[in-house]
Amino acid sequence: TRELNRLDADKPATTTDGTAIHVAGNIGSVADAAAVKANHGDGVGLLRSEFIFMNRTSAPSEQEQYEVYRAAAESLKENQPLIVRTLDVGGDKPLPYIDLPEEENPFLGERGIRIGLDRPALLRQQLRALLRAAEHGNIHVMFPMISDLHELKLAKQVLEEERTKLNAKAIPVGIMIEVPSAAVMADVLAPEVDFFSVGTNDLTQYTLAMDRGHPKLASLADALHPSVLRMIKLTTDAAAKHGKWVGVCGGLASEPLAVPVLVGLGVTELSVNIPAIADVKAAVRSLELTTCKSVASKALRLSSAGEVRALLQASQS
Ligand code: PEP
Ligand code: MG
Repeated sequence: TRELNRLDADKPATTTDGTAIHVAGNIGSVADAAAVKANHGDGVGLLRSEFIFMNRTSAPSEQEQYEVYRAAAESLKENQPLIVRTLDVGGDKPLPYIDLPEEENPFLGERGIRIGLDRPALLRQQLRALLRAAEHGNIHVMFPMISDLHELKLAKQVLEEERTKLNAKAIPVGIMIEVPSAAVMADVLAPEVDFFSVGTNDLTQYTLAMDRGHPKLASLADALHPSVLRMIKLTTDAAAKHGKWVGVCGGLASEPLAVPVLVGLGVTELSVNIPAIADVKAAVRSLELTTCKSVASKALRLSSAGEVRALLQASQS
């Protein structure tokens, strides 16, 4: 079936009853952006910009970043969105030239937007590069690890200041939903954003209090756990109330098995690993939205990830 899915990859991902789902790609480079296009992805739901900062001895300049973001946007099909996540380091991702503190609990310390707000020079430079590149493509900006409204407002303020200085056009702004507080408070955050993107890798680790890299626990940190699904439901309900859309860019989106429950919860973009694009699109085309909704509401009432997987497997056949 993988071969057959690949033959159909250029067809849109629409459920049998007509709901269009964006199946986008997760990327780390300009070459990846070209691969998304070659694999018929609907744009990029997550450019992990830290990859542009890694494996070098100093930070890329504003001009270098501008060229990368512009080239990535121009590698996609005309006007397809490129969602660029601002630098997400700390935790499991160190950088030699940013002086990060030694912390006892790095996953609960200065990571993501916390570093950006604490040392705003890097964030400002990145936002300038993004705003300039947005003159040449459909670039959206996304902030990682937002845990409350205050952080979001500070980050947006920095963006607005740089935009004003450059006299650039406004660009869509979204946030990662990967901290439980953000999912729980999604109704408070929704008015301030254009979209949410659920990071199931971190959201699972923080919801279940299981380190995503832990030798014993990582395999138990299953994003299909009903607690995580309830977090996603809080997010999609809040977004719907405010007319905003929700994507999933964490690893769960790349699992065809998970597609019915995510679509049933109201997710409208799945941003996946490039090799999974064709399979996830095919999974969407095989589904009916009403069935997805009933699968999702059943899953929310189960008590373990294992039970959710069994439900999804049973409803597949
Ligand atoms: C996530 O946390 O699910 C996510 C997409 O971000 P990253 O894996 O880069 O932390
Ligand atoms: Mg994350």
